[in-house]
Amino acid sequence: MTKYIFVTGGVVSSLGKGVATASLGALLRARGYKVTAVKIDPYINIDAGTMRPYEHGEVFVTASGAETDLDLGNYERFLDLDVPAGSNITTGQVYLEVIRKERAGDYLSQTVQVIPHITDEIKRRIRAAGEKVNADIVLVEVGGTVGDIESLPFLEAIRQCRFDVGDENTLYLHLTLVPYLGTSNEFKTKPTQHSVAALRSYGISPDIVMVRSKEKLPEDITRKIALFTSVKANRVFSSFDVPHVYEVPLTLEQQGLGKAVEELLGLEHIHPNLSVWQNAIKVIKAPQREVTIAIAGKYTAMPDAYLSMMDALLHAGIANNARVNIKWVNTEALEGDSTPESQFEGVDGILVPGGFGIRGIEGKIRAAEYARTQKVPYLGICLGMQVAVLEYARHVAGLEGANSTEFDPYTPHKVIDLMPEQLQTEGMGGTMRLGDWPMTLQAGTKIADLYGVAQGGEVTERHRHRYEVNPQYVEPLKDAGLVVSGATPGMKGRGAGLVESIELPEHPFFVGLQAHPEFKSRPMRPSPPFAGFIAAALQKD
Ligand code: GLN
Repeated sequence: MTKYIFVTGGVVSSLGKGVATASLGALLRARGYKVTAVKIDPYINIDAGTMRPYEHGEVFVTASGAETDLDLGNYERFLDLDVPAGSNITTGQVYLEVIRKERAGDYLSQTVQVIPHITDEIKRRIRAAGEKVNADIVLVEVGGTVGDIESLPFLEAIRQCRFDVGDENTLYLHLTLVPYLGTSNEFKTKPTQHSVAALRSYGISPDIVMVRSKEKLPEDITRKIALFTSVKANRVFSSFDVPHVYEVPLTLEQQGLGKAVEELLGLEHIHPNLSVWQNAIKVIKAPQREVTIAIAGKYTAMPDAYLSMMDALLHAGIANNARVNIKWVNTEALEGDSTPESQFEGVDGILVPGGFGIRGIEGKIRAAEYARTQKVPYLGICLGMQVAVLEYARHVAGLEGANSTEFDPYTPHKVIDLMPEQLQTEGMGGTMRLGDWPMTLQAGTKIADLYGVAQGGEVTERHRHRYEVNPQYVEPLKDAGLVVSGATPGMKGRGAGLVESIELPEHPFFVGLQAHPEFKSRPMRPSPPFAGFIAAALQKD
């Protein structure tokens, strides 16, 4: 029988529910269970693909091609799992399906209502996500804060789940905040008391209360929360601020979270293997070496806008026993700067990330030019590969004014252009080339070497783009010395297929990928191009 753990949040948003959920998943995974996780987002968008990353954080892309909330990325990294399709449930998806069924006549003669039709559809989706991977345990994180109007149907659905599958197969974990008032020197538990009371008013009594706080909660505060919430003191956990999120599974295990979950779900006691996290923290705290990487992107005050990429750099650092320092370089400022070298001073590598829109494009092209001519290790991701190709086209292949039609539809050289299948797409939601696509890597290239297919072969990475290197320009670019190291296999009538990766042979490390390898990077399995990039940056003198 599949077991379900439901995670709700109270008091304020942005408590780190995703990390808490993923960390609990890591503890169960470390005990050998097959675990998957589902994120419920109560907004009406069908998916996160149409939302601004500078407000909501990055759009994470799953293997199945779903554009999801960034928490799915945390689940994949902490659980070492490719989440199945349907792991990000939104209000929009649920209503769209129920209304479709209503029009099809599936509910003929019935009044279609939130209970039972919407709640049934929510429960069906939760069950389906677990069944797809044959999970022993499904973690379900309900986005938002208890009391939000839009999350009501979801809370009702998860309440019904206990009724459907029984106490021993369901666990409710409520995450709250205990603020610390410096002026009176106290931790305040009242918001937690109110939040648990609000949750109870929806018929859900938490089995575990987890508390975010600045510091580890003193025992008297834990006891006070236990008393007021009727949750035993040994089931009140303190998720206090730690220097790095990969410490969270370790601090929670130390407090006995894994054991409490075993007891509540009737699981046998298993000693977890947490070596991945212990090792990661060891390197994070005391690395042997250090590098500085410039990220030339849209400057952003929202660090989560590049979450997977930052994690991929961290994993690559761990693999090389190095700390990776980041220097943000605003590419708009780079455009007007006559001395780009001042921006890249002391930098061991330049990374141009994925992106959309014309803002800062010329600056990104300058960053690629600087990396190429100054022999600074370069990694171009998606748009970062496209700008590297444009730079090469303009300055080496003699294709003056070369551009992407995304930025200049009238460019004399459409070196980056819309993929033909994109010409027919209608609407913006979910219509890019998305998710896992294979690429054939050419024998003897740097990238084939990094992926461990030195003799050439196929690897798979996640994609999210509309534009590609225009096949008509592949030959002129190759003639000018650009190496097309990877291409999409089996594209009939289109020469070598889509350009998937490029590199420069006479350069210490100049690699671009049309895909987003950061989405598959894990602490236990760093992304090969990222690991190679950091290794090359460490070599730079
Ligand atoms: N805007 C570019 C495209 O659509 C690159 C996309 C990206 O970097 N994810 O092809």
